[in-house]
Order: sequence, then structure tokens, then C-alpha cells
Amino acid sequence: MEADANSGAHEDPRAPIRTDVLIVGAGPVGLFAAFEAGVIGLSCQIVDALGRVGGQCIELYPDKPIYDIPAIPSCTARELVERLMQQCRPFDVPIHLDQRVMDLTQRDDGRFTVRTEQGMTFDAAAILIAAGNGAFQPQRLLLPDATALEERHVFYSVARLADFAGKHVVVAGGGDSALDWALALRHVAQRLTLVHRRNGFSATASSVDSMKRAVAAGEMDFVVGMIGGLDAPGGALHSVAVKQVEGSVEIPADMLAVLYGLVADLGPIANWGLEIRGGRIEVDTSNYESSRQGIFAVGDIANYPNKQKLILSGFHEASLALRKAYAYAYPEKKRVHVHSSYDAKLAERVQATAT
Ligand SMILES: Cc1cc2nc3c(=O)[nH]c(=O)nc-3n(C[C@H](O)[C@H](O)[C@H](O)COP(=O)(O)OP(=O)(O)OC[C@H]3O[C@@H](n4cnc5c(N)ncnc54)[C@H](O)[C@@H]3O)c2cc1C
Repeated sequence: MEADANSGAHEDPRAPIRTDVLIVGAGPVGLFAAFEAGVIGLSCQIVDALGRVGGQCIELYPDKPIYDIPAIPSCTARELVERLMQQCRPFDVPIHLDQRVMDLTQRDDGRFTVRTEQGMTFDAAAILIAAGNGAFQPQRLLLPDATALEERHVFYSVARLADFAGKHVVVAGGGDSALDWALALRHVAQRLTLVHRRNGFSATASSVDSMKRAVAAGEMDFVVGMIGGLDAPGGALHSVAVKQVEGSVEIPADMLAVLYGLVADLGPIANWGLEIRGGRIEVDTSNYESSRQGIFAVGDIANYPNKQKLILSGFHEASLALRKAYAYAYPEKKRVHVHSSYDAKLAERVQATAT
């Protein structure tokens, strides 16, 4: 299973996809849940609002080492996600990226219909919400004119360098994403200016060094300040105003890439009729079911007394939740537990995808 192989792979995005379990979130807990669903004998589909898997591990600390995953004394967050992807490969679980779940309805037969903002529909016997702190969204500019200029002159991600070729480009932000894109864009832009509110950065030291060298070599500019206004007569961006400690400077700009990082938002899940406390979903710790039957919450999004936001807690929660979910998918069947070490079918699947 490739990280983004199934994004948009479904032929008709409006036709409902039937599955035993819909997993919301492809963070570490959602990925482990996909493996566990396969072991238990449940089909599943994963959706994630982002364009790649890994949740916080990939978005917030990909290169940091993690030391508290059982039997893995140390691995980076990125390696953990790679291992989880490898672990669920035997079940070839479809992962639908760039899909933010929106509406939920429950049919008379108890099954759920879930729609994403981007138009996909799922028909599931149970839902496992592994949505972390909620869907990550880019932190937007708080300027009234910015919205109308989005995707033409104001961007919150850089999809293709070519779109910025030959333009006056301003990149705003001081993290890894802002510095990496500023360094890449300086090669195609007519002029590249990096704007950050202070002369210190939250990016890796090597990126900061590269940026400083590029500024010293005259390949790009760096301006300290905050984006305070957009000059866009007739809807075409001409320049941005950068507020500084004393006064303001005008920087010519056709394109502004605002790379301030991501903020998390529970979003539409808050309207699904679940009991929510402090932005997290209340669950019963015997099976991690929410206040609505058939809807489970695991990982950071789950709330219960003494909840620890740890990856290993999420793994345990997913494992118990899916055992209860089985009863919704196959009410007529009694599931017999088999240890994985004695599961011949599982062994066969794992061996078949081992290379
Ligand atoms: C800097 C840092 C270091 C950490 N170090 C450790 C550590 O050493 N050990 C440890 O155990 N834990 C650590 N953690 C905590 C750990 O990363 C989290 O507990 C873990 O990521 C939770 O996993 P999750 O799958 O529940 O959620 P997340 O990783 O947050 O993933 C949730 C996913 O759900 C998606 N999503 C949310 N809402 C929607 C929606 N509406 N529709 C579709 N998709 C949606 C999100 O886009 C995201 O990809 C650390 C956290 C941070 C920030």
C-alpha cells in the first residue's frame, strides 16, 4: 500500500463505497487500526483531510526520535509511519487522501452514510474516529482582502513551482515549510522575498543556514515584519505591506505564499451528535465507543479519565474498539479470537507481501 496510491482512485467519487469500518484519520492510530481491522476480519477504508498519511508524526515531528513504542527502542516519527504502512500492506486498505469528513447520517438498518467535503460517500457498519486533534488546516492570513485572492495570488501551499515562475514572490513564515519553499522558489521567481515576524526561525538549522547564505549571495531577500495589507487593485496583487516595529515597507508581489503552519479543528465531527468535552470525544473505556452506538473514538481525539495522548494508548484503544465494531458489521456471527502467532491466513498474507 503506497502512501497516496489510493487518493482519488475510486472511479466515481459520488458512488457510495460500502465497507465494514470507515476509519477517519490516517495518523499512526488510524494506520494501526487498518491493520487490526484486517486481522479481525473487517474490511475498512481510511479517509484523511491531508494529502499524505502520518498525522502529527509527519506534520509536526517527522525527524524526531520516538522511544516509547513497544519493542522499537528508537525510530523517527517518519520511520514509525513507514513501518505502520508496511504492517497494514497485507490488507491493501484503500486510503483516500485530501478527504475531510463532513456529514453523517444513520439509516434505519443502523448503517452510517458519511460524506466528505470533496464529494466521496461511504456506507459503513461502524465508524472509527482517529482524527487526532481534528483536521489540520493551514493557518490563514487574517486580512479581509485575502480570501478573494486565494488560489490566484494568495496561496497556503505550493503545489507547483512552475506557477510562480517569473513572478515577484513573497513567502511568509519562519518554519521548515516556509524556508524550504523560499529556497526552492528563488530559482524560478523573478524576485523572492521571505517575510518573517522575527529574526529567529523554527526551521532546521541547515535550512536557516542555506537561507542566510542565499540572502548574503543576493539570491533572495529577507524582511522582518508581519504581512499587514495587500495592495490588489482590480483583484490583481501588486504588493504587500509589511508592518515593522517602526512603520511599514511595501514589497512588490504578484504571488504571496503564506506558510504559517497548520492548525487543527474538530470541524463537522462536532455536529455528529457525540458527547464532546474540551474538543474531544467521550468514550466508554471497555470498547472506546462514543455516546452513539457504532461510532468509536481512538487516539488523541478520545477522552476518558486518565487518558494519555500516546501512540501506544491509541493502538490499544483501536484494538478493543474494532472488536466491538465487528458485532455491528456481523451481528449474526460470533468472532473467535485467534492469536496472530496461530493465524495461518494472516501468516500467508504477510508472507505474500513481505518483499
Ligand atoms: C512534537 C510531538 C512529539 C511527540 N512525541 C511522542 C512520543 O515520543 N511518543 C508518543 O507516544 N507520542 C508522541 N506524541 C503524540 C503523538 O504524536 C500522538 O499521540 C499521535 O499522533 C496521535 O495519533 P492519532 O492517529 O490519534 O492522531 P493524529 O496523529 O493527530 O492524526 C489524526 C489524523 O486525522 C486526520 N483528520 C482529522 N480530522 C479529520 C477529518 N474531519 N476528516 C478527515 N481526516 C481528519 C488528520 O488530518 C490527521 O492526519 C508527540 C506529539 C508531538 C506534537
